[in-house]
Amino acid sequence: MDIFLYISLALIIYVLVLILLKNLNFWKKKENKIYNNCCPCELQKPLERIRRKKLDYLINYTTFQLFDFKRYRCTECALECRRWDKPFRGKF
Ligand SMILES: [Zn+2]
Repeated sequence: MDIFLYISLALIIYVLVLILLKNLNFWKKKENKIYNNCCPCELQKPLERIRRKKLDYLINYTTFQLFDFKRYRCTECALECRRWDKPFRGKF
């Protein structure tokens, strides 16, 4: 098989997987009744923004900035995670 064809096929599949993950709301901000960005843990406490690490920038670049991940930490369980939000806030 032609190596270039193989690479472009892999790239297409990769982009399709990214789009699929976005449609599945993978790592998207989670809301509950009280907070607009809450931790996936049982307590569902709000997440606070913390500085991005090099890995976070790397992930943003390798996902073609499709998600624009930001780094958050739970105020209760100290879990750190990456979340993305819609690029615009429609009604507000
Ligand atoms: Zn938590």
